[in-house]
Parts: sequence; C-alpha cells; structure tokens
Amino acid sequence: MKNGWFQKKLRGYASLQGYQKPQKYTGVLKLDSNENFVIGKQYQQDLIHNARKISDVREYPLGRAEKLVNALSKYLKVPQNMIGIGNGSDQILDLILTNFASPQTRVLTSEPTFGFFEERCKLYSIPTTKIPFSKDMTLDLNQFMEKLKNSDILYIDSPNNPTGFQFLRKDLEKLIKKFEGLVIIDEAYGKFGDYSLINLSKSMNNLIIVQTFSKAFGLAGLRLGYFIANKNIVDVFSRVIQYPYPLNSIAIEAGILALQKPQIISDTTNTIKKERKRIIDNLRKYDAFEVFDSKANFVLFDAKGADSHVFTAMIEQGISIRKLGKIGKHKGCLRVTVGTKEMNSKFLLAIRDLLG
Ligand code: PMP
Repeated sequence: MKNGWFQKKLRGYASLQGYQKPQKYTGVLKLDSNENFVIGKQYQQDLIHNARKISDVREYPLGRAEKLVNALSKYLKVPQNMIGIGNGSDQILDLILTNFASPQTRVLTSEPTFGFFEERCKLYSIPTTKIPFSKDMTLDLNQFMEKLKNSDILYIDSPNNPTGFQFLRKDLEKLIKKFEGLVIIDEAYGKFGDYSLINLSKSMNNLIIVQTFSKAFGLAGLRLGYFIANKNIVDVFSRVIQYPYPLNSIAIEAGILALQKPQIISDTTNTIKKERKRIIDNLRKYDAFEVFDSKANFVLFDAKGADSHVFTAMIEQGISIRKLGKIGKHKGCLRVTVGTKEMNSKFLLAIRDLLG
C-alpha cells in the first residue's frame, strides 16, 4: 500500500487524546473554562459593534495587526518591535513548538501544566520532563534548577493552570536567568497574579512571554493572543513564522478598542481578585475539601475522592465546573472559575446545599 506511511502516521495520532475541552451544557453557569464574566456582556457587544463599523471585511487586514501591536505597545509600555500577535495564545504556543522544538529538544515543565501545551508536545513527539506539584500545590524551585542542564526549553505558566500557583518573582527570575535554552513564560492569567516578567524580556534574548485577551480582557471568543520578546525573536516570528493574516479584522479592531479602556480591565481584575478570596475563604469552611491558594481567576480544590459526586451535584444545580480528578497526591480535584459576585454566590450556595 503506497500510503502505508500515511495510515501509520494517522494511527499514531489517533492513539492520542488531544486537548480535552469541557463538555458543553446548555443553560448552565459556565464556571469551567476560566473565562471572564465580570466584564459586562453589553460592554463587549458594544465593543464588537464599534469594531464592525470600522472594519471593511472585503479587504485582508493589511497593516491592521500592526495597529494592534502599536496599541499594545502603549498599553504594555514595551517597544513595538518586542510584540508579536497570534490567533489566541494557543496558536502562538503551537507555532513556537512546531518551529523551535523537535523530538530532539527536551521540554522542562510542571505536572500539571496547561493541557493544550502538553498535548501539543505529545503530538509532535517532543520529550518532556515534568516536575510534580507538592502536596500543598506548590512547585519546588530546586527540582527545576537540577533539571535545567538536561533541558532545551522551559515552559512555565505563571500563574499555573490548573493549580493557580505562581512562583515568587525572585525564584522565577533566578530559574530563568540560569537557563540558556528557550524560556516560555505563559502569563495567560498574569493580570490576576502578583507580577509579570515583561520587563525581564527587555534584557534577555531567549525569553518569550505569552499573554492573551481571553482572560483579563474577557474576549476569549475573539481568539486574540500576543507575546513579548526580544526584537530578533519577534522579527523572525512575525515575518517568517506567523501566517500573513492570523487575526480577523473585527477581532483586531475590538482588541484596539479594548486597550483604550485600561480602567475597565483593572477594575474587573480587582473584582475577580476579591471574589477569589471570598470563594477560597468559603470553601475552606468545609472539611470535605482541601482548597488551594490561587493567583489566577479560578480556584482549585480537592474533594478528596468525591469529585464526581460534587461535579454531578453542581450540574444538577445548573453550574458547570471542571473535574480534573487526580493531581499528585490529591485524588479528586475540581476547578471553579471566579465569576461575577452573583455567579459565585450561586455556586457557594449550591455547595452549602450539598454539604451544609
Ligand atoms: N495558556 C494557559 C495557561 C491557558 O490556561 C490558556 C487557556 N485556557 C491559554 C494559554 C490559551 O489562551 P487563548 O488561546 O485563549 O489565548
């Protein structure tokens, strides 16, 4: 069979799991994907409406992405030649892997880490070493330090998905400065954390900081991602690696408009941080759970083996959270997104009904 090689390759891929998206339930509170519902739906609809008015979709968005980069440059206070864009940060991560990683390059990351990144490494047969989280859901810096010399790429989500953990800034900086390979710091949830490493990318030629409009900006559906890195990395990525038109015109214009209202972003982020504390404090009242600290817009807790039970009970109450099961020594982990005050109250009430 002439296409035997192809069938073999196809069978190899078929054996992979792929990225596990949450199940789609209709008419439920969606607290399963770390989206941002604190930013108003009407506000975002107005944004899209205005973006549509500016766009002429008969044309390719020639020069438009550059306008978005310009707006990001002002917002982030980073030169334009240090910013690249992508179709969601998923696509940026994917392009970095397909072009800079191979079965010969070894990735060092945490266990768990962002599922999409992990699945992509499997898809491309990129060997990964994963440092597990400890029982209190923190990472040990020394374990990373030891493994650096046998690694080519370091990938850390800061804060981590799904644990919500963020290294102390000085620890993460120490780790990165010691490494000579490629460093990818995924700051998808950076706005909810204690710090960003953007400034470090100004003095390093091997550091890529990935960020997104999906979380703090509440624009997950638009698929707008970006990264900050040394100008040589950005030049190669944008000129050679990235597609000619990775973002659609309406998304680009909406992104530019969103950046004009930084106050909205910081207000919603602050609300989410306050609500996060309320969720953690409330869940900690129950012995049935072990609740972990979080620097992201979600909270991870261990239902100590009763994760399926809690998950089903929440669905019955019209709330979808994420069932993650075993993480390290913890048997039944669940992750809940920090929603609006009302959503969070509904979730906490449903938990009280179940356990109270
Ligand atoms: N990085 C991390 C750590 C994430 O959790 C996510 C989304 N769940 C992404 C990147 C991807 O974000 P997006 O593609 O929407 O920009």
